[in-house]
Amino acid sequence: MTLMSEARSGISDVIIEVAKVEGIEPEKLRKKVVEGRITIPLNPIHSPEPLGIGEGLRVKVNANIGTSPDHKDIDEEIQKAKVALKYGSEAVMDLSVGGDLDEIRRKLIKAVNKPFGTVPIYQAGIVAARKSAVVDMSEDDMFSSFERHAKDGVDFVVAHCGITLESVSRLKKQKRILDLVSRGGSFHTAWILHNQKENPLYENYDYLLEIAQKYDLTLSLGDGMRSGCIYDANDRAKIQELLIIGELVERAREKGVSTIVEGPGHVPLNIIESNIKIMKSATKNAPYYVLGPLVTDIAPGYDHIVSAIGGAIAGYAGADFLCYVTPSEHLSLPTVEDVKEGVIAARIAAHSADLARGIGWDRDIQMAKARRDLNWEEMFKLVLDPEKAKKYREKRKPKDEELCSMCGDLCAIKLPRKYLRNEGE
Ligand code: SF4
Repeated sequence: MTLMSEARSGISDVIIEVAKVEGIEPEKLRKKVVEGRITIPLNPIHSPEPLGIGEGLRVKVNANIGTSPDHKDIDEEIQKAKVALKYGSEAVMDLSVGGDLDEIRRKLIKAVNKPFGTVPIYQAGIVAARKSAVVDMSEDDMFSSFERHAKDGVDFVVAHCGITLESVSRLKKQKRILDLVSRGGSFHTAWILHNQKENPLYENYDYLLEIAQKYDLTLSLGDGMRSGCIYDANDRAKIQELLIIGELVERAREKGVSTIVEGPGHVPLNIIESNIKIMKSATKNAPYYVLGPLVTDIAPGYDHIVSAIGGAIAGYAGADFLCYVTPSEHLSLPTVEDVKEGVIAARIAAHSADLARGIGWDRDIQMAKARRDLNWEEMFKLVLDPEKAKKYREKRKPKDEELCSMCGDLCAIKLPRKYLRNEGE
């Protein structure tokens, strides 16, 4: 029985655990799981720490890692996974497309005790491409890949079921600058056009739901049409895909299969909120997993910041799950250090959104008190990246150890203690 089906008959241990972590009533959580507003991706074969994603919960962060055809070092990917978890990523996705994909996935699952996601269509496409071409993958290749990943314990999978003959025809009519930037989306679009057939993941969606039911696999319905530049944001092709996904979310719920919906890519600040409202209304409030949103196209090298700006606004407007972006986005495969930078940027975005929604103030209040008390040890315990914070303090040491070298004995925190609070030197 899937977690969603189980929730229909009562409160399970997993619901109790997630409710406790989130500080909400288990019954409230149970109802939202039943309605599909909250998803807990948990394949019992992997059995990660339960994580609730969705309405009213803390905004979560995912880190994508994985090999490329040019760089396939499994140990480095494991290192990236560990660093991502250390700095606060609550889920990890393996997007490997180089090397032995089964071996990489299986090793990574063992290293990650949080929800673990993949994009099975990559493996189907790559296996076909190694023999002839991506467009030669068979329907069986596609579904087998999903089942293979589920059997390995993958907790959530991206399924590009919204790329259909209909949405591709909309894309053809749309004058985009960047037609497609989703790898899975491009695989399916090329397959549909080459074979002149409907996307099997859409046409035989019931079979995909059977696999998902069997393994309690969460479907992350994405986002093949996401915009790759702000000019293309929220266009007809994207909205068409979203309308199809909305129908598929409802069909999944009928079968007790949990879903997440992905979006939106590059989006200017002013339409992030409307994008989220449209998505939530088209899917009857499915958890929204946002890639970015990246709010400008011109900052490669700093795209973790670009994405954090969009992520904070998206989280405040109702997005539930942020996919990090690293500084190497659009430029190269990320390094371990890039993963760390990306996770911290996304965590800042998620936390800022939480604060604005009235969640998770305790740590900030403790930090403010530590700052007031010039208690540096306490501050370093509370910051997101203690190593970096300490390095900065060490780089320019203060004459007076109690203060920092920014203002020295003109410390704006210390002076009021004497004159405003009469606390003496
Ligand atoms: S010296 Fe200036 S920057 Fe440093 S703690 Fe005091 S007020 Fe803050």
